[in-house]
Amino acid sequence: MKNLCWLRRDLRIHDHAALSKALSDGETYIVFVFDSLILGKLKNKEDKRLTFIIDSLKEIETQVQKKGSSILIRYGDPVEIIPTLAKELEVKNIFCNRDYEPYAKERDIKVGKKLTSLGIHFEQFKDSVFFEKHEVLTNQGGIYKVFTPYKNKWLETFENSGKIIPEFQCPLKNLAPISNNKNILHFDWYKELGFKESPSLLPGGTKAALKRIKDFSPKMSEYGEERNYPAKDGTSNLSTYIRHGNISVRDLIREGFAQKSDGAKTWVSEIIWRDFYQMILDTFPHIVKESFKRDYDQIKFPGTEADFKAWCSGHTGFPIVDAAMRCLNETGMMHNRLRMVVASFLCKTLLVDWRKGEAYFAEKLLDFDLAANNGGWQWSSSSGCDAQPYFRIFNPYSQSEKFDSKGEFIRHWVPELAHLNARDIHQPDPLLAPDYPRPIVSYELNRKRCLDLYSVVKASGK
Ligand SMILES: Cc1cc2nc3c(=O)[nH]c(=O)nc-3n(C[C@H](O)[C@H](O)[C@H](O)COP(=O)(O)OP(=O)(O)OC[C@H]3O[C@@H](n4cnc5c(N)ncnc54)[C@H](O)[C@@H]3O)c2cc1C
Repeated sequence: MKNLCWLRRDLRIHDHAALSKALSDGETYIVFVFDSLILGKLKNKEDKRLTFIIDSLKEIETQVQKKGSSILIRYGDPVEIIPTLAKELEVKNIFCNRDYEPYAKERDIKVGKKLTSLGIHFEQFKDSVFFEKHEVLTNQGGIYKVFTPYKNKWLETFENSGKIIPEFQCPLKNLAPISNNKNILHFDWYKELGFKESPSLLPGGTKAALKRIKDFSPKMSEYGEERNYPAKDGTSNLSTYIRHGNISVRDLIREGFAQKSDGAKTWVSEIIWRDFYQMILDTFPHIVKESFKRDYDQIKFPGTEADFKAWCSGHTGFPIVDAAMRCLNETGMMHNRLRMVVASFLCKTLLVDWRKGEAYFAEKLLDFDLAANNGGWQWSSSSGCDAQPYFRIFNPYSQSEKFDSKGEFIRHWVPELAHLNARDIHQPDPLLAPDYPRPIVSYELNRKRCLDLYSVVKASGK
């Protein structure tokens, strides 16, 4: 029996549900398709995420070549490519892991229909989440829309399953022998795709992901407190690896449950947040364009294009916001605390539609994940499920004083303020920092404007 395993957002060859099934079933080919519809939408032709993906594929290629095989790489529309390749290779089965994003679901339905018409079996597996939506339901069989009861049920379900964390064996000896002259190690795929290599700060691949979790493990017990400070290395920094599947969600859960500290429990909760947002996107695909709570779409955000541009480039005159945005623009990364601060600032202080910020993050973040990003933005704008209440507006000055009290993070990213002391740096006097922009809006004034703006939903009691 010949099988084809289609890699997508699961760039690893260990603990991989679809690959495990394929390999245990017969001789297996592996394919990765650079999707022209996805790549065509990327404005930046030096996108660091492409480098991350290519580096991850190179690592896999090196491993599979040792077994006399190679990953087949293609470029185009997977709806055409996968069935054509399946016929060419004369495979009986195509296996891949489930993806819960609306575009991917639609694509996979089309691929599945074509394969069925060709008499080829197409099967998808749970892999990128620990529990899928039907596995964690309310006692009435409904979907949870609030995180804490969802988390409690998630933990109860785990407990009731006997705390089993499956590990999918991938016997590589069953890989199909191939010599592939367009293999990722030797062929210039950047050129073929119309992109240029742009080294990412994070090396792609499983080896780097496993090293990161090993380095983070001894710090996990302190995570509950340390995760709040952007100048500290208090979080795992695994999100880009998780997004691209260099590490499995089961690897994470195993690591988290291996420790008993409160810090480890908090860290596991974050992984459960990830499952929660995947489940929400899978169940309520309207959130891609609309507010989860549809009433919130009555709000007409008056913020200007100039204010949005100042936010994007990190020139708002609010040091913590500017530092965070400059960090994002340069590295493709942003600390969670700062994501909350800049998101709240955009929609509740600059009064710009949160969807513009969401789209900007989608363009810049190395770890961009539709479900988590949309969840984070809708949480910040109060339009999401289990979001912060509309009247909770982050104060960028007090957030800065609390979470970057010495001004270390600001000093690193905003050189115009590097000479200021820890007292002055959060809200600098223009006389002390003449090269730094003045605040483009008044926080206090716009706080009141925001509450008025949100009165539309306040009136409906939400
Ligand atoms: C406005 C906004 C946008 C965001 N966009 C994204 C995004 O595009 N991609 C993304 O992975 N995360 C996103 N997050 C969630 C969170 O900020 C990042 O996951 C986290 O900063 C990554 O750092 P870490 O790997 O060190 O996380 P850790 O603190 O070590 O957490 C471990 C893992 O748990 C998951 N996780 C943590 N927090 C969340 C959360 N709130 N929601 C879902 N999963 C979570 C991530 O996979 C993370 O790697 C966003 C949050 C906000 C407020």
